[in-house]
Formats: sequence, structure tokens, C-alpha cells
Amino acid sequence: MSTTSAYKLDNFESFYNIIDNELVPTAKTRRAVDPSNEELLAEVPVSTQQDVDRAVAAAQAAFPSWRDLSQDERAVYLTTFVDAIDAHQQEFAQLLGKEAGKPPQGVGIELYLLSHQIHETLKFRLTEEQIEDTDERYIPIGVGVGIVPWNFPMLLGIIKLVSALLTGNTFIWKPSPYSPYTALKLGELGAKIFPKGVFNVLSGDEDLGPLLTAHPGVAKISFTGSVATGKKVMQACASTLKRVTLELGGNDAAIVMPDADLAMTVPKVATMAYFHSGQVCFCIKRVYVHEAIYDAFIAAIVEFVKSLKSGGPSDAEAVLGPIQNSMQYAKLLELYSQVSKQDLKVAYGGEAASSQSGSGFYLPPTVIDNPPEDSKLVVEEQFGPIVPILKWSDEEDVIRRANASSMGLGGSVWSKDIVAAERLTRRLEAGTVWVNAHFEVGPQAAFGGHKNSGIGVESGLDGLKGWCNAQVVWIKKWYKIIDREDISHRNTDLIKSTLEIGSRSSQNTRLSNFQTLYNIHRISRQKT
Ligand code: NAD
Repeated sequence: MSTTSAYKLDNFESFYNIIDNELVPTAKTRRAVDPSNEELLAEVPVSTQQDVDRAVAAAQAAFPSWRDLSQDERAVYLTTFVDAIDAHQQEFAQLLGKEAGKPPQGVGIELYLLSHQIHETLKFRLTEEQIEDTDERYIPIGVGVGIVPWNFPMLLGIIKLVSALLTGNTFIWKPSPYSPYTALKLGELGAKIFPKGVFNVLSGDEDLGPLLTAHPGVAKISFTGSVATGKKVMQACASTLKRVTLELGGNDAAIVMPDADLAMTVPKVATMAYFHSGQVCFCIKRVYVHEAIYDAFIAAIVEFVKSLKSGGPSDAEAVLGPIQNSMQYAKLLELYSQVSKQDLKVAYGGEAASSQSGSGFYLPPTVIDNPPEDSKLVVEEQFGPIVPILKWSDEEDVIRRANASSMGLGGSVWSKDIVAAERLTRRLEAGTVWVNAHFEVGPQAAFGGHKNSGIGVESGLDGLKGWCNAQVVWIKKWYKIIDREDISHRNTDLIKSTLEIGSRSSQNTRLSNFQTLYNIHRISRQKT
């Protein structure tokens, strides 16, 4: 394979679907919005049923030969791909900043995470597992579709793409209509590297997802998004029995114990609550603080949040960007309006006015002091920079409150006593739990939600297995031996071993031995 300079993309201004390694325009186009200034961005394709059919056919045609490569061979393509992305860091950084409304710090984190995700995932290999005398191996499923949300437009698609391709599936990436730009350019880069049809990208409006989930040629949907849409995806996949992985919303609780070191804890909890303006599925969404340190915690978190600067993709000092899109912005304005409607106590920030056209979808970071447990802000995933701090006094009670959510993505406990904190995390109903941390996930470990937060996992070996069907192979090695050996001798040995180890051996071994005896009996009869 040639060096990454051979894969240079010159143009980051025009955008096409990528089907069968071709740049394909559509009759209809649309434009997304830069959330930092509400300006329209470049035109992108609006895919139709024909585009979906063409992409699925290309991915189906590419599947057999891609499947038949070894994992090492597929990893070589993917390594070239990540090197080519790294060679375009500047261009992707600018595009991602504009489409996602991320300040440079947030862009840097996403680009680092996605490069790390690919490099680390490529170290994994799915091997055959031997269970007694049978082998279990992992077979790619076929054409996979990744449906991606707008909060991490590159990273969340990359997690799906690299796992799907390494395990031998072919792939169609469907970005969110709010953030399609970087995905289309990744597809263009992929078209220079992968064999035809292996990696396709389709952009569209909100009709495109259902066209893909309904398509009979698609074998697996890996979806990241809201709980409500996840339920629709699962329903749509039922009619063709597609494999489904769902990575859905979260309402993560952080429990701060009375012995927590505030100087260490507050900056970390606040960072993990307000990162990307709260638009992260496993950000801290509820902070439960023990009453003994509650007032000091509120004072410290207010001081910290005051220091967070808001700004857009060109502001290197900014930590908080705008809300990514008008739909989420409208939802959050409604949530902020609950502050006065429900008479919530504001420790910092507060009511937000609708943006003057052109000023961007910014919201003031807000700290709410001990709101009622049944308030919307506590019960629902807010997905914005408004965070409830809640008081607790009884350990049983705080665990019950943390687990009261229908979601179960993540949860953390903050304490100097690591052993006691770890013991408490075992009682949290969530897919990932932390002690003195939150948000830390990595390519090496499975990530997924409990309860309404999802089905299945991504990342780690289990994430790779999610892109495969299990296949068990039974090879009857005794057959050749019997041709060469004295049947009666073998017969006696087998009877002996079957009876002797009968009580100790597993059902699998006993069944296998009995079947062997039956076959010996059959062969002896044929020979006489
Ligand atoms: P969303 O559910 O509105 O949309 C997600 C994707 O699904 C988009 O690409 C959208 O176009 C597509 N879609 C919409 N309707 C569809 C349908 N009927 N069939 C198929 N696809 C359809 O979510 P969003 O607003 O883009 O993202 C925010 C949500 O995603 C939050 O709830 C957040 O917690 C969640 N999220 C979860 C994770 C995770 O890993 N668990 C990560 C990031 C975001």
C-alpha cells in the first residue's frame, strides 16, 4: 500500500455520498448549521431509496472478499486509514469545530480519542475458542450500518466502523443530519484506501435512518442516539431480524461521600458534568453530595463553573461551546424555563433567553441547588449545561435515588476510602462505574448501557464479537484413527472410558463418546 501522501484530500468544501468508492451527488441537497453563529454550512446530499439500494448492493458485493481476508490484512487497511486521518488533522479539526460547534479544546479531545480508538482496537484479534473438543469461532455478519448522533460526529462513527471492518463486515455510515460533514470526508478518504464497496457513507434527512433499518440487505444496525429513537430502531429491525446494538441516553449519578477531598473532587465532577456543555451521554447528570459537605461543595462548584469560558470553534480559551442544534436548544430553553416555573433554587447561572438570530445557540452554565427529586431536571437526561446538585444523608437512600432512573449508562462514587467506594459502585445499576472518576472509557473495555440505556456493547473484545455471529465447528477426528486401529480394541477402550469417566465428564463429552460408540458399531456391522 502507498504512503498517506497518496491519499491526500484537497477539497474540504464540497460533499458527496460515498458509494462503491465513488463520489455520488444527489438531486436534492440540504445544509446544516454552524451552531456558534447559526450560519448555513455547505450543501450535502439528501439520499433517496435508490441511493440506499445502491450502497447496500455495493456493500453486499464487497462482503465475501473482505470477509475472506485475514484480520491482519484488514488491519493493514485500517492502519493506513488512521494514518491518513492523522495526516488531515488540521482540515478535520476545522470541519468538526464548525459542524459540532466545538471549541478547539473539545475538537482536540475528539480527534485524540478517535485516533487512540483505532490504534488500540487494531491490537485486538478474535481467536477461535476451544470448548472441550469443539471450536467456537466468530463470523462477520454481512452489511453493517452505523447510525450516529451529532455530539461526537467522528468518534462515535469511528468506533463502529473500525470494529465492523476489522471483523470482516462491510459498512455504511449514516451521520446525523446535524453533523454530516466530517463523516462524508472520512468516506472520501476511505474510498482511496479500502476495496470498492467496503466503506460507504450516506447523508440525508430524518427519512434516511428508517430506509436503512428497513432494508432487507442490511444485516446489522449499530445505533447511537436517544432512547426514543432506539426503540423505533429496534422495532424496525424486528421485521428482518437484524442484529442490533443500541447505545442510548444516560442520566448518570455521581455520589460524593462525606470524606471526599473537595479540592480534588469538585474540579473533576464539574468538568465531567459540563464537558461539551453537558452534551455527552455519560457525563455526570446528577450530583448527590453528602449533607456534611454539601454547602462547601456548592460554593466550590460555583467558583469552578464561573471560570469556564464559553466560545466557538475559533476560541482557543473556550471550554463551553454552543448547544449543537436548534432542536436541542429549544428543548433546553424549555428545561431552563422550569427554573422559575418550579421555583428551583439557582446557585449559579439561571434562566436563558432565546438567542438573537446569529448569536449562536449558547446557554449559561447553571448550577441548581437541591431541586426536588421528581423535577424534570433530575428525572430526565438534560443533555445541556444545567446540572442539579442534590443532598443526601443515608447510604441506602442515595443508592435507591441513583438507581431510580430508567437509564443505566454510568455512575460514580467519590471518596478517600477506595474500598468502601468500590463496594458501593457494585450496587449501581449502570454499564460503567467509576471510583473518583467519570467519563473515563477506552478502546480496551466494553462500553454499553443497562436498562433503557442500551443493548449490547461497543469496544473491547466484546464489542468486536457484537459484529459477529458465533459459529461452532465439530470435527470428528476419531474417524481416521478407527480406519487404522483395531475396532474391537478401540471399542473396549471407549466403553471403559465412557463408563469410568461418565460420572465426572461433562454432558458434552459423554454425548460425544456415545456417538462414537454408535458409529463404531455401525462401521463394524458394515465390515462383517
Ligand atoms: P437521535 O436519536 O435523535 O438521533 C440519532 C441518529 O438516529 C441520527 O443519525 C438520526 O438521524 C437517526 N434517526 C432518527 N430517527 C431515526 C429512525 N426512526 N430510524 C433510524 N435512525 C433514526 O439522537 P441525537 O439527538 O442525535 O443524540 C443525542 C442522544 O444520543 C442523547 O440521548 C445521548 O445520550 C445519546 N447518545 C448516546 C451515546 C452512547 O454511547 N450511549 C453516545 C452519544 C449520544
